[in-house]
Amino acid sequence: MRLTLFSRLILGYFAIFILVVAVGAYAIVQLRRFNDVTRSVLQIDNRIIDYEKKLTDALLSQIRYERKFIITQDNALYDQFLLFKRDFDGYLEEAISIAESQSSGLLRIAKEYHQRYQSLFDEEVQYLKRGEKYPQAQYKQEKERAVDGIIAELEKMRAYSQESTYSKIKELADAGADAHRVAMLIAGVAIIIIIAISLFITRSITQPISILKKRTKEIAEGDFGGNLNLSSPPEIAELAGAFNLMCSKLRDLEKMKSDFFSSLSHELRTPLTSIKEGTGLLLEGIGGPITDKQKRLLTILTEESNRLIGLVNSLLDLSKMEAGMMTYTFDRASLAPLINKAMIEIGPLVEAKRISLEAKISEELPIIKVDSERMLQALRNLIGNAVKFTPDGGRVAVSAQHRDGGVEVSVADTGAGIPAEKLGTIFDKFQQAISTGSYPTQGTGLGLAIVKHIITSHGGKVWAESKPGQGSTFIFVLPT
Ligand code: ADP
Repeated sequence: MRLTLFSRLILGYFAIFILVVAVGAYAIVQLRRFNDVTRSVLQIDNRIIDYEKKLTDALLSQIRYERKFIITQDNALYDQFLLFKRDFDGYLEEAISIAESQSSGLLRIAKEYHQRYQSLFDEEVQYLKRGEKYPQAQYKQEKERAVDGIIAELEKMRAYSQESTYSKIKELADAGADAHRVAMLIAGVAIIIIIAISLFITRSITQPISILKKRTKEIAEGDFGGNLNLSSPPEIAELAGAFNLMCSKLRDLEKMKSDFFSSLSHELRTPLTSIKEGTGLLLEGIGGPITDKQKRLLTILTEESNRLIGLVNSLLDLSKMEAGMMTYTFDRASLAPLINKAMIEIGPLVEAKRISLEAKISEELPIIKVDSERMLQALRNLIGNAVKFTPDGGRVAVSAQHRDGGVEVSVADTGAGIPAEKLGTIFDKFQQAISTGSYPTQGTGLGLAIVKHIITSHGGKVWAESKPGQGSTFIFVLPT
């Protein structure tokens, strides 16, 4: 089943959408991971390091007031000591509540040392209040051991937090590099897939359209044969179906037209030939003696029936050629005798118009594949036109020479020429460069169309060159 253009576009866009969502989702997951790590660094490790500083400060202040109190026994100093003790305990609890398991273990040990320090000092205070002697040096030593313990644990905790911060930043950097690599990879793959999808969709539209375009051009040039068989999306396949239908209708029409020409020509040719034969016999005096006036009228009748027979013959030939029903019999021959024959045939008209008819035929004309009958017809039409469209006393030159492995024939005249805008159309049937009414010799507009058919059927090419007012040159080339 072939997908419609609409489904292809929707599927293509959906695939692109999925790719974009995948890239976006990956980016979101990575960003969330970065966010978690950054938050952990900022909210845990940094704050723990902060607390370590505050705890150390509070502890040092406690020690300072504790020492001053032991010397002076001033109660205000004792109150200060308690103030810093409360700070220390508060910071310690807050730090324990946010710390990760290892740091919180260290903080608990520090707490125990602190309690030990506190109870030693409390005992000393009792001795002092009672005025009793006590082993002061031993207490001092015990307290120092407890304080060292606290400081050691806090330092361990700070080192651990710094280490943790460092390793998290490193983890972030590694994850960033990984994310960059993966994102580049996904983006690269996505770009390739998007280009491939776009190319596929565009090609599935443009390829059949360019075939349709080519076929339309062929139809415009008159080639109605051959059906389009496109492997394309249904919408374009439907268009191709309609196109094929149109071609078959055009073929039918072309055939009808050709059949019409052909039967009409047959119907016309038979009575015309009878008229021509009849007037010929009358002119010969078969029906009895004729007067000069009758002779003149019968001569006009013969000329006109000849002209009509010529026209009907041309119509019949062209309709056969267009229907592809004209049979060609190719032999290997030289064009020289055909050119000479055509020139001899036109002799009476050339003489009547006092036209100088020149021939320049190369002696080394190659032998080519040619249907002599048809080629003579083409030469008659070209040389006949040159003489017909050249005013009395003018010049017509026919030349033939070897050219690029083939033969080039040209028929040049000194007639009125052909306007540049008509040069491209005069080979189409019923096309005349100058309206027949304005010219003494009437025409049909079929001669050049027949020439074109004959030359192209020989694998050759024909065209006209002209400078209005200076004459025209008709040239054709034939392959060997
Ligand atoms: P026809 O000569 O019967 O009109 P053709 O097909 O032979 O038909 O020629 C078509 C038209 O081309 C002519 O009507 C004429 O206008 C122009 N043409 C052909 N040959 C010449 C020529 N040698 N010089 C000027 N015009 C020409």
